[in-house]
Amino acid sequence: MTTTNRFTHLLATRPWLLADGATGSNLFDMGLMSGDAPELWNTEHPDRIAKLHQSFVDAGADIILTNSFGGTQYRLKLHRAQDRVAELNTAAARIAREVADKSGRTVVVAGSIGPTGEIMEPIGPLTKELAQAAFAEQARALAAGGADVLWIETMSSREEVEAAVAGAGSVGLPVVCTLSFDTNGRSMMGISPSDFSEIEKTLSPRLAACGSNCGVGASEMVACIHNLSAAMGPDVVLVAKGNCGIPQYVDGSIVYNGTPELMSVYAKMALDSGARIIGGCCGTSPKHLRAMKDALDAHTKGKTPELEEVVSALGEISTGARAQWGGEQSRAGGAAAGANLNRGRGRRSGGAAAAGDADKSAS
Ligand SMILES: [Zn+2]
Repeated sequence: MTTTNRFTHLLATRPWLLADGATGSNLFDMGLMSGDAPELWNTEHPDRIAKLHQSFVDAGADIILTNSFGGTQYRLKLHRAQDRVAELNTAAARIAREVADKSGRTVVVAGSIGPTGEIMEPIGPLTKELAQAAFAEQARALAAGGADVLWIETMSSREEVEAAVAGAGSVGLPVVCTLSFDTNGRSMMGISPSDFSEIEKTLSPRLAACGSNCGVGASEMVACIHNLSAAMGPDVVLVAKGNCGIPQYVDGSIVYNGTPELMSVYAKMALDSGARIIGGCCGTSPKHLRAMKDALDAHTKGKTPELEEVVSALGEISTGARAQWGGEQSRAGGAAAGANLNRGRGRRSGGAAAAGDADKSAS
């Protein structure tokens, strides 16, 4: 253990940090098949996982996320690997740690933790105690392998956020949590950026950073960061990890339409809108990430863009996020749940919908 945490140290010394891009969609390009658990590659093909991390470090990433998004016992159970939580998560963190440590600069290893895929009480069967224990089990293994920070992502329900933060928080490392606001400006379970701001204040431990990942596209991500920033104020460290454009279902697979140029503009607008940690989610390749880094390096943080500037540069924004941007938080005022965008959920089955990151969820 170093006496100073790499993540909190970098945050304290840099105006912004670059997080990495996609895991799943890049692993598919390396031969992962739909239905396979990416986490099994931590022991079957550690060289390929290391190569992906290396390509993001080479592109300039300050933070790399471990290949452990589906590493809770509940997700691994789908692959009969529920008894391998410690092994697979520790391996995931070790692979990333090794790449980070030979980079010659400070690179943060973020232990990725995704949803269990189970619906929690009171709507579903999973109790908060069991969920919290599962997240703690995963977090301990990630910490043992050398993670600097525990990185909870693609969350959508308050209950699961609370369980994940409490479980991950039991390890003693900084905790980050991002939701996927992919349903008309809200998470699938109805949480708006304003709601998340209220929830965040009640979490224990408090988050080192929070924000938004995945979702429906670059413009929606920037709007979401604007809305989170308006609700949370300037002292909260915000994370933007947006998809590489809009997911589209083409010939049986999901394709992301974002160019490196679009992701460059997204990165600058996310920074100007209040994000301090910026990266990509589904579809974001090392090439996209390099373009984002170059754009951020050449950019001086400016004033928050106007909504119409975001739309004209990056594309349409949902009516819900628009209403929230205008300060309207009520469902009656237009900030209602109910998608009006193509959400590109083709890969997923309904039952695992809460596990919702098409990028990470090969299952
Ligand atoms: Zn994603």
